[in-house]
Amino acid sequence: MRVPILDTKRQYETIGKEVEEKVVEVLRSGSYILGQNNKALEEDFAKYCDCKHAVALNSGTDALHLALRALDIGAGDEVITVAFTFVATTEAIGIVGAKPVFVDIDPNTFNIDVDKIESLITPQTKAILPVHLYGQPCDMDKIMDIAKRHNLYVIEDCCQAVGATYKGKKVGSFGDVGCYSFYPTKNLGTMGDGGMAVTNSEYLKNRMIALRNHGGAIRYYHDEIGVNSRLDEIQAAILRVKLPYIDKWNKQRRENAYRYNELFAKYPEIETPKELDDTYCVYHQYTIKIENRDEVHKLLAENGVGAMIYYPVPLHLQKVHEYLNVKEGSLPVTEENTKLVMSLPMFPELTEEEQKYVVETVIKCLNQTKAAV
Ligand SMILES: *Cc1c(COP(=O)(O)O)cnc(C)c1O
Repeated sequence: MRVPILDTKRQYETIGKEVEEKVVEVLRSGSYILGQNNKALEEDFAKYCDCKHAVALNSGTDALHLALRALDIGAGDEVITVAFTFVATTEAIGIVGAKPVFVDIDPNTFNIDVDKIESLITPQTKAILPVHLYGQPCDMDKIMDIAKRHNLYVIEDCCQAVGATYKGKKVGSFGDVGCYSFYPTKNLGTMGDGGMAVTNSEYLKNRMIALRNHGGAIRYYHDEIGVNSRLDEIQAAILRVKLPYIDKWNKQRRENAYRYNELFAKYPEIETPKELDDTYCVYHQYTIKIENRDEVHKLLAENGVGAMIYYPVPLHLQKVHEYLNVKEGSLPVTEENTKLVMSLPMFPELTEEEQKYVVETVIKCLNQTKAAV
């Protein structure tokens, strides 16, 4: 059997006809940029995210980048974030000329360790940028409390967490701006690139609308240096087809996650994911901790199981961040977990039979690595 980490084709089989109709409609309409689909998607997505406004953009990276720009964060400023994330999180901070300051993570949730934030705040700190990694919400009450007391902005990286909630409220609706990605592998993925910034601030909405379209609200009048980061109408139309399904898909992901938990229950050598109380985790990834991780990963590939390592090198040890001079050993929990984590096949259409095969194969491969030593 072969079980891929993600199979986008299976989802296409269920919605392809609807998508094709809507795409053809766009093609025939002659309106390809900032049209009706953008507007409708922004309205629906804002509502879905418990926010007043949404600004459609070209990517999740640009959502982060333009959120920082809209908040006037730039050279000389510091943004507190994690090193246990995808590089786009800190790339956005670097693009605006600010400096990422890394906090260690909580080993249970893989998210920002809220008890370690305050000691890193300096007069230069402007914002906290938590990442809801793998679809798991961060402890937003604590983060918002710290931000309020120190007068800091909060930008939420929700790129892996469409539909996740904390105490009944969608992630992205707590901070100043919530940033989403519709990259095809995300839990709400389109068929190209796409992103969205959500906010309750009309001012920030208008800033981001101007920034995404060459820095001006009125065509051919430019107030500041912007970018070209518009979502095209084809992607917006596809996302409008997909958005009504996201709750169902997230529910299926959760069912699959709990089935994995059950199947792994008799194998204490596998650490399965935990959830914070009062959160709705959407399992963008199902990530276990396992010893001999790299050998197991290699054997799994040979046995047809598409596991992935998110992410093999923490950001403070990447070449791009050498200039920050953050030494190895300074984020011990991040570094340790980087060596242990492995994400298993996870998508709504995954079958029980496939999950059983994945679990059996993980255990078989782990035992093989132990026998080898
Ligand atoms: C995917 C991702 C991004 C970037 O999104 P793009 O749409 O690919 O630019 C940012 N942060 C995290 C945590 C992501 O997973």
